[in-house]
Amino acid sequence: MISGKTKVCAIIGNPIEHSLSPAIHNAAFNACSLDYVFVAFQVKKEELREAVQGFKALGVAGFCVTIPHKVAVMAYLDALDPLAKAIGSVNTVVNNNGILTGYNTDAPGFLEPLTTRGIELESKNVVMLGAGGAARAVAFMLVNEGARLTVLNRTLSRAEELAGGIKVSLKKDVNALEMNYENLKRAISQADICVNTTSIGMSPNTNETPVPAELLHPHLTVYDIVYNPAETRLICEAKKRGAVTLNGAEMLAWQGALAFEKWTGYKAPIEIMLKELKRALGYHED
Ligand code: NAP
Repeated sequence: MISGKTKVCAIIGNPIEHSLSPAIHNAAFNACSLDYVFVAFQVKKEELREAVQGFKALGVAGFCVTIPHKVAVMAYLDALDPLAKAIGSVNTVVNNNGILTGYNTDAPGFLEPLTTRGIELESKNVVMLGAGGAARAVAFMLVNEGARLTVLNRTLSRAEELAGGIKVSLKKDVNALEMNYENLKRAISQADICVNTTSIGMSPNTNETPVPAELLHPHLTVYDIVYNPAETRLICEAKKRGAVTLNGAEMLAWQGALAFEKWTGYKAPIEIMLKELKRALGYHED
């Protein structure tokens, strides 16, 4: 029941109507019997500042930030967590008595499914495909955990820019290459882990894959951060080759769970959030 005491959390982005965050956060609040409600707001770029100030004035407990505001929002916050500052993007904001602090839970959210499977990154050769918005947090986490990273991207300059950012923040070298067959072949043959952060294979283009099947091998862990469909063509072909596979659903649930913990101070019901996410995405139960 919503009452005069109910605390409000939100997500802002544009577009926002397909966001899964209201479903997973409201399920989590209900499961923990917390008097919170979660809603989604479409916010235009030119109205971002007013939206953030409005949240402060209204005493909103916290909010998630998604495309296209993850970088721009930083200018309107009172403080930044060091990880968000180093990555250069914020996806979670906490309102602590009028002080808005920005966090990045995408990065630890990406790491959590690897950690829970006991997959270590230290000294591993990791190939990351893509250099877009999500790639930033993923690359930072990979290098921070000690991986030797090669980034391949269709637009080479974006891969180089990402590598340059890591060099500044972590003082580590990242190999940046154009994503073509020869580079994929060489990089993947030497890789322990291949992470796809491109949108290739995402619904409705489910017939596409960033990696030709013959380049996949059984010693590889393939982590596709795409979560729709549950089994991308990449994941499907990697399984057939005997590789270990992970999709993006757990990462998405974990970034939400970590935000929930920052807002409420309670341990997030991760299994419930993941179940709700899979239900909302129409996954068949495994
Ligand atoms: P983005 O900023 O638009 O970046 C897209 C990336 O994909 C770029 O590197 C782009 O290369 C590449 N790309 C797109 N189409 C391509 C094609 N046909 N051929 C080669 N490269 C192509 O998107 P994003 O926000 O990073 O999201 C990327 C994917 O990650 C989406 O599927 C999204 O749903 C998923 N994601 C998952 C989570 C999660 O929690 N699991 C979180 C965030 C995002 P160029 O630079 O050359 O354009």
